[in-house]
Amino acid sequence: MDLYEYQGKQLFQRFEIPVSEGRLATTPDEARDAAEGLGGPVVVKAQVLTGGRGKAGGVKLAADPADAQAKAKEILGLDIRGHIVRKLWIEQASDIAKEYYLSLTLDRGAKKPLYILTTEGGVEIEQVAEENPDALARLHVDPLEGFHPYQARRLIYGAGIDDPNEQKQILVIIERLYRCFVESDALLCEINPLIVTPDGEVRALDSKFTVDDSALFRHPDIAEMRDVEAADPQERLAREKGVTYVKLDGEVGILGNGAGLSMSTVDVVVVAGGRPANFCDLGGGGDAQGVVDALEVITSDEQVRSIFFNIFGGITRGDEVARGILAALERMQIDLPIVVRLDGTNAEEGRRLLAEAAPPNLYVEPTMIEAAERAVELAA
Ligand code: GDP
Ligand code: MN
Repeated sequence: MDLYEYQGKQLFQRFEIPVSEGRLATTPDEARDAAEGLGGPVVVKAQVLTGGRGKAGGVKLAADPADAQAKAKEILGLDIRGHIVRKLWIEQASDIAKEYYLSLTLDRGAKKPLYILTTEGGVEIEQVAEENPDALARLHVDPLEGFHPYQARRLIYGAGIDDPNEQKQILVIIERLYRCFVESDALLCEINPLIVTPDGEVRALDSKFTVDDSALFRHPDIAEMRDVEAADPQERLAREKGVTYVKLDGEVGILGNGAGLSMSTVDVVVVAGGRPANFCDLGGGGDAQGVVDALEVITSDEQVRSIFFNIFGGITRGDEVARGILAALERMQIDLPIVVRLDGTNAEEGRRLLAEAAPPNLYVEPTMIEAAERAVELAA
């Protein structure tokens, strides 16, 4: 789960990582009030779950409350790479002498958290990695040993930060970021830029924060930060129903039992010349309610023209899944053509059940590719 900048900063604050004071606003009037409350110049920042807001015109300095109101008006409603701005973070403006970059992320390859620190902050880290890789100080932390202060010193020297006053502050921030990362079950905590003010104060000016979905049950306060409004409507419905679903752009709705099979189904639809409308995994079971829930999610997407059920009977037998499909179709009205490929354990019995009871819009095909071709043809 990705957090908004202001939510990430709330967590930073909890772990005493210095941030600027700020307030949330959803209208120009609220932005003006926030600026008034904060006093002095502010920065008006679009809250969207994507980076590069600055370049897209989503981060603007404002001299006074009236200016904050005007800037808010410009930024609200802006489309930043498909994300419409509905919320603003109004923050006391900082004077910037230097922009550094600090992140802690889970390196899956090494199975360890990885720190990256560089004095080349402010710009995208991928660009620094490409153009000036030596500028990046990188350091893994053994999760069993935990963090040790010498590691922070190694990072700071590695990045070439030699001002003792900066070193002292960044050392503390590095240490606190580790606690923040581990105790929040984060996958990414990125501060870009980590600024040094002309007075020599170090502060996090931005936050990019991703929390492991699987750990959210341990963090009800973080789970509550999820913005259901910003989610895709189909994906929101899927989450409510407990259906494993990812929205895609095409016309062929897809259902498979098992994640691997469902992914192959996405591929085979493309091979057959079509475009998948979604990824959807029925999971191990094939009970009618699971099928109904999945079909409700898939058909709530108006782009869907046909549905392709790809079933391989393994532990869940093919006849059980066939019964589940039939029971589901009795419970709900679907006019779209449905193509079923059923193979594996008890496939023949399953196909027989479907053939006997099947409604006219249900087509049974013997192989995966033939079923995909039929589903693509019916979606045209
Ligand atoms: P991003 O573009 O989505 O990464 O958004 P950031 O929060 O990183 O802001 C983009 C840029 O705006 C930063 O790199 C800064 O250069 C600038 N910026 C953000 N906040 C302030 C501020 O308080 N004062 C000044 N002078 N510049 C700021
Ligand atoms: Mn940034």
